[in-house]
This record gives sequence, structure tokens and C-alpha cells, in this order.
Amino acid sequence: MSEGTKGLSRRDTFMAAAVAAAGTALPGAALAAGKAPSRKVDVVVIGAGFAGLTAARELVRAGRSVVVLEADGRVGGRTKAAMLAGERIDIGGQWVGPSQTRLLELAKAYGVTPVPQYTEGDNLIDIGGRKARYRGEVPGLAPADLEVFGAAVARLEAEAGQITAPRPWLAKDAKVWDALTVETWLQANVPSDPARELIRTLIRAVMSSEAVDVSYLCFLGYIASAGGLGPLISTRGGAQDSLFPGSVWQIAAKIADELGGAVVLDAPVSRIAQDERGVTVSSAKGAWRTQRVIVTVPPAMAARIAYDPPLPAQRDGLTQRMPLGSVIKVVLAYARPFWREQGLSGMVISDRTDFGPWFDRGTPLTRGGALVGFFDGAPARRWADRPATERRAKVIEDIALYFGDEARRPVDYVEEVWTRAPWQRGGYVSVPGPGVLTGFGPALIEPVGRIHWAGTETAEAWAGYIDGAIRSGERAAREVAMNA
Ligand SMILES: Cc1cc2nc3c(=O)[nH]c(=O)nc-3n(C[C@H](O)[C@H](O)[C@H](O)COP(=O)(O)OP(=O)(O)OC[C@H]3O[C@@H](n4cnc5c(N)ncnc54)[C@H](O)[C@@H]3O)c2cc1C
Repeated sequence: MSEGTKGLSRRDTFMAAAVAAAGTALPGAALAAGKAPSRKVDVVVIGAGFAGLTAARELVRAGRSVVVLEADGRVGGRTKAAMLAGERIDIGGQWVGPSQTRLLELAKAYGVTPVPQYTEGDNLIDIGGRKARYRGEVPGLAPADLEVFGAAVARLEAEAGQITAPRPWLAKDAKVWDALTVETWLQANVPSDPARELIRTLIRAVMSSEAVDVSYLCFLGYIASAGGLGPLISTRGGAQDSLFPGSVWQIAAKIADELGGAVVLDAPVSRIAQDERGVTVSSAKGAWRTQRVIVTVPPAMAARIAYDPPLPAQRDGLTQRMPLGSVIKVVLAYARPFWREQGLSGMVISDRTDFGPWFDRGTPLTRGGALVGFFDGAPARRWADRPATERRAKVIEDIALYFGDEARRPVDYVEEVWTRAPWQRGGYVSVPGPGVLTGFGPALIEPVGRIHWAGTETAEAWAGYIDGAIRSGERAAREVAMNA
């Protein structure tokens, strides 16, 4: 410990080091000197993802003064745009489904229109060592395995039907379900290797997590939040139904434009201090004094903020137990969508490859063809720290396994390693293991004094999705309005 940091608590030392590293004046220095921060607003919103931006939009419309403090140098959070072969595409969240009405309404309000996901032709499935082509939404397993899969889906749907999102811990059997992982449930209840493997693959595809890491209650809650397993995993009519030419991210950018100077970038919040009269929020861009705070960052990232007084044990415990899933998203451009010429839809589900699933991602703006896919869960963890050139080679090798040599000649390639993104550290969503929702669940949404919690993880519907983020932002804005 240096002379200068002697006498400081461990947390103070960390704060001083973090601030020195950011090269800024000490956040809250004005307070330390006995002065109130000069900037005052009615509400401070932390995070400029869809939850934060919609919360701020609602509050500004209701006549409140707001600042949105965003750690990153851009808005959008887990949505982000990238350029691929001259087209602006999404390298984070992208799809929208018909029951995701809040995202659809917001898109309409900003003049952004979705187009259907391309689904013509055959999908490919390669699970449990058996390859098949199939059409539509019923996966091409062998008949006996499909029967077991169908029974598992029916049971999942029935049990999810007993859950009221976003409070799965209130279900009658919550404690029993929360004592299991999806993996233990699969081993006890799904007597077919390929059906189990398909469900593991689907868990990776919808939660970027391994079945062994996910509480069975959490999975049921996720299904309930989406209105059923069908809406969650289906392309046509489900969460992968449509996408936005020019990106979904542009909606976030348009809201931020509307909010203008109220959005402050490169402003990671390091401390939230509450007293009887209000709250002081300290960031790398200085401190703000306010009446209410809406924290929209996912629980694991919220745990990296210091709180004074310290958070209640339940809330702090929750934030220690809700890791984000692991995901790397990749989009490739080709001179032509050659798979379409082979009668293929572009969609591949495989347990043989590390990369996958993948889909056609053509829109009317796409010149040539494009594919989008993911490393999810354990494969994302395996590949996140490898050199980008190795990842690219692996993606191309995996696609070529099913689409042939033409897949080896992309004209462009972009990727985002979300697991390493400094201010997101993963995606698509935070995933609690066993015991967390029943032990700590209520702390996900219950305000702590003047601090309100939002973010897709807290949504009453479509938790984990952009639509859920919007719903949570709007709910938190209502909560603040009621308490003002
Ligand atoms: C690869 C990928 C694919 C996805 N695909 C889809 C899809 O197709 N459809 C769909 O609906 N959803 C999809 N999702 C999920 C969707 O993107 C998220 O659910 C949604 O964007 C979450 O929004 P949010 O506002 O709740 O949180 P975030 O977007 O995470 O916003 C939180 C913000 O807080 C900021 N922040 C963090 N710490 C601090 C701090 N200390 N101070 C200030 N700011 C901070 C972050 O930088 C971030 O901007 C996907 C996600 C990923 C990663």
C-alpha cells in the first residue's frame, strides 16, 4: 500500500485506483469537500441500453429532468451495430417476434420496419450423430426421439403454465424446481440421448448457457415470460420471426438523439450514495444529485458499483449469483446466398460443431448473401480468448461442413465477443443457477430506498429480450413517477 492510500478502506483504495486509471477527478470529490454536486436532476438513469433509454424517454415525456449515465462510448448496450459488406447490421440483439409488442410499437414510432426472417427451404439438424433436412418448426429427429422430445416440451409448457412472470419463486413447486438444474431434470425425465442433446442445444441457443448452469425454475420462468416454449424457440411466429434492415440498434440511437445532452457517454457509475434527502451518483464524468435512480445494468454489472449505505443482504446476495451467459456473435457476407440455391434455409442446429446455431440473415438491404450465428455457452468460453483469426477459421470450417466449399469464401466477416465486452461482459441474459430465485428472487425488482431496478432481467414479459428491456424501463419510469 502506498503512502497516499494509507488509512483508506479496501473499497476506498479500489475507488481511488479506478478513478486514477480513468484519469478523472475523484467522483464525489465535491461531496468530500462538503459541497453538493452542481448538477441536479429529478432522475438519474444508469445504462443507455433499451431499458435505460426507454425509462428516460418516458420520464422526459412526463416533464422530469433526467440524465442517462452510460459507461460505454456508445448507446445500445447489448444491441450494437456493425458494418458488413456495406450494410449496417446488428452484432448484438437483432430479432423481434409478433408478441414482442413493445419493441414493435417503439420501432413503428421511429419509422423502423421489420422484415420476415428468411425461412424458405430445408433446415439442417445434426444431433446425436444423425443428420436430417426438415421444414418448418418441428425438429427433424428420428420418430421415437421426436416423441420423447414432444413429451418433454408438453411437460415444460405445462409446468411453465404454473408460473407468473416475473416472479417464478411464487409457484407452488418453486422450491422443488429450483433445486434442479435443467441438466438434472433432463437426465431424470427425458429418456432419449438425441432429445436431451437437442434441449441442451436449445438452452445454449436461447440463454447462451449450459443446461448444467441453469436452474430448472429459471428455465420455466423464461418460458413463461415468453408466453410458451413455441414463441421462445420458433422462427416463424416466435422470437426469431423478423429482423430490422439497417439494425434494431438504430432505434436506440434515435431515442438517444431525441434525449440529446441528457445522455452522457463514457460515464461509468462507480458509486451511489443515498441520504435522507436524496441520492448522489458518482461517475467518471462527475457527480449528479437526484431524487431517484434507475439502475438498468444487469445484476452482475450492478454488483461492480459501490453503494452507500451498502445494499441489503438479499440484493447484494442476488447480484453475486446472477452471471451473464457467454456468447460470441458472428455475421458473414457471401457474394451469393448459395445455400438457397441448394434448397436450404440457412438454418443449422448441430451438436457436432462449436459454432452454431446459424441462420440466413439476408434483408432487402443485403447485397449477396449473409449468415448469422453464435458460439454459445461453453463453446463461447472456449473461444473467447483465442485469436480472432483462429475463431474465424473455426466458424468457416463449421459452416463448410454443412454448406460445402463455397462457405470457405466469405467476402466479409464481423464478430463481437460479448463475453469480453468491458461493460456488458456477456449476454444474452443473466442466468441464475439453483436456489437463487427462491432464495433471492424478490430482490431482483424490489426498490432499495430511492434506487429502482430495471433491465431486461426484471421484465414481466420477454425477460432476456429487447422487448423485455423496454417493458422494464417503462415500468421503472412508472414506479419513479408514483414515488416522486
Ligand atoms: C449476441 C446477442 C444477441 C441477442 N439477440 C437478441 C435478439 O435477437 N432479440 C432480442 O430481443 N434480444 C436479443 N438479445 C438480448 C438483448 O440484446 C438484451 O436483452 C437487451 O438489449 C438488454 O437491454 P437492457 O437495457 O436491459 O440492458 P443492456 O443493453 O445491457 O444495457 C445496460 C447498459 O448499462 C451500461 N453499464 C454497465 N455498467 C455500467 C455502469 N457502471 N455505469 C453506467 N453504465 C453501465 C452498459 O454499457 C449498457 O449500455 C441478444 C443479446 C446479445 C448479446
